[in-house]
Amino acid sequence: MITPLDQIAYIGCPTCFKKVTDSRLTGFFCNTCKEIIKEKYLYFIHAIFQDFTDKLVIGFSREQAQSLMNDVDAHTFMTQTRRKFKSEADYETWLQENVLYRPIRIFIKAKSEQFKGENRQRFYAIDVSRVAITAEEEDGEKPVLNFC
Ligand SMILES: [Zn+2]
Repeated sequence: MITPLDQIAYIGCPTCFKKVTDSRLTGFFCNTCKEIIKEKYLYFIHAIFQDFTDKLVIGFSREQAQSLMNDVDAHTFMTQTRRKFKSEADYETWLQENVLYRPIRIFIKAKSEQFKGENRQRFYAIDVSRVAITAEEEDGEKPVLNFC
């Protein structure tokens, strides 16, 4: 199960991918590149994967986040797809149809990090691929077991 958190994209610099802040008079200015840039939406996704045993929060890179989002790039998602949602329910429906409950294969790495003086494990995706399943598998039909 995947539950993307509310904030899944940010406005960033297309060159260095750093977050930029709105400045409407001059356009967007990247503090790293020291120039006015044509801003771009970029994904920043941490998704919760869970079943009845436990849950795991996994961080995804911009590219991996895009495959998670059914290959809709962040800019298209934020400027077009999302605009069509009239309510939170529309967003939920879109997620159901495009993102949630899809079989995907994810390789992750665990990283120990210090957080508020505590050691904790963070998980990052290193490879994401969608897994094709047959219609029978989708229907939950199990292979028939034969005894001889
Ligand atoms: Zn930049």
